[in-house]
Amino acid sequence: MTSARKVHIKSFGCQMNVYDSHRMADTLAPEGFRETPRAEDADLIVLNTCHIREKAEEKVFSELGRMRTLKEAAASVGRRVMIAVAGCVAQAHGREIVRRAPTVDLVVGSQNYHRLPALIARAERGGALVDTEFPIEDKFGVLRPPSRAAIRARGVSAFVTVQEGCDKFCTFCVVPYTRGAEASRPVVKIIEETERLAQAGVREITLIGQNVNAYHGQGPDGRAWPLARLLARIGEVRGIARMRYTTSHPRDMKTGLIAAHRDLPGLMPYLHVPAQSGSDHVLSRMKRRHTRADYLDTITHLRAARPDMAFSSDFIVGFPGESERDFENTLSLIDEVGFAGAFSFKYSARPGTPAAEMPDQIGEDAKSERLYRLQAAIDRNSAAFNARCLGRTLEVLFEKPGRHPGQIVGRSPYLQAVQVMAPQSLIGKIAAVTITEVSSNSLFGSLARAAEAAGD
Ligand code: SF4
Repeated sequence: MTSARKVHIKSFGCQMNVYDSHRMADTLAPEGFRETPRAEDADLIVLNTCHIREKAEEKVFSELGRMRTLKEAAASVGRRVMIAVAGCVAQAHGREIVRRAPTVDLVVGSQNYHRLPALIARAERGGALVDTEFPIEDKFGVLRPPSRAAIRARGVSAFVTVQEGCDKFCTFCVVPYTRGAEASRPVVKIIEETERLAQAGVREITLIGQNVNAYHGQGPDGRAWPLARLLARIGEVRGIARMRYTTSHPRDMKTGLIAAHRDLPGLMPYLHVPAQSGSDHVLSRMKRRHTRADYLDTITHLRAARPDMAFSSDFIVGFPGESERDFENTLSLIDEVGFAGAFSFKYSARPGTPAAEMPDQIGEDAKSERLYRLQAAIDRNSAAFNARCLGRTLEVLFEKPGRHPGQIVGRSPYLQAVQVMAPQSLIGKIAAVTITEVSSNSLFGSLARAAEAAGD
């Protein structure tokens, strides 16, 4: 099959799904599929789904309703459209998806999407297909690499998956069931992928994994390398000026990794470390394996290693058994750390997880009220952090043209969007910017000195 067809891939949820969607597109490209941003134009629609919260899952089924209408409209003019569901909902529900949404032609799990070309060919011959068994082969060994053009189209900042799955089994989480046991990619493969990205113009790499700081991939010396050592090696790749990693578990913030924040100038001083709660009672019921004191201790050590560190986090409100006092401990943790940003969610019971069976579930009204107060605390801390950036000079990696003529937009070390009146030739480069104005979701500034493209 080589004739030009169009694929529309819609990603839900986390950065790992964004990465997987890119790899699906790369794997389908040699089969003649070109990506389209419009589902209406597509011959193949892939929904790459998220199962972490009930709301995310419901979104997928409502999206499938819309896709059915598109499919029927195309069929009425003699055009065949195939619909595939991939990702964590596919992994968790398998054949149940086809039963609930018969418009679906193919269900493919998170570990099986390297088989997409063969699965599509089989599904075309008729009948809905479901492939969610964990495969024997490693998908990364089979996936096609992105073309230079695809890398450039995705911008100067790229994700690289280094680790998948999780062995922690927090009582609220489906990841250990949908993504399987912790597995790390070998160092050599990660470096090859990073070099390819850097040669096509990528300047910033974010290493991703469900539990990225548990990374222990095989190094070229045959030994298991920890994340700190991998980061040091990636810092040597020509052209890579910035590194980040996400998502981390507080328990796996080991001494060597904390020291990497002191020793590696390319490692950005902004770290996402999910706390989930500030109450030891709730943390223990979540089986998080860290206490509030452990968490604060880790933050203190990171700040000692690199004083300009800032932090973001995830919080769940209304976990079963969470009292008002527990919740207030979460609010006080937010103020104590002074997070630059955070994601917050109402607890939603995921079938099959231990927390879903806990008897003391919290009512929706109480959850909504706590979420409102939590988000106010996060917003207050985030605004204070942004305000402290006023007058500072920050290194900005420019990514694209801005909304106004003559403006370009980039990211600060803290992932804030920074808008500057400057030449487009700076896109893909890093320049020092003095921050002159701060709004709720952007910083504005002016070039502090002539741009220097690190690594050039
Ligand atoms: S560490 Fe993260 S991915 Fe693993 S079970 Fe806990 S919440 Fe889920």
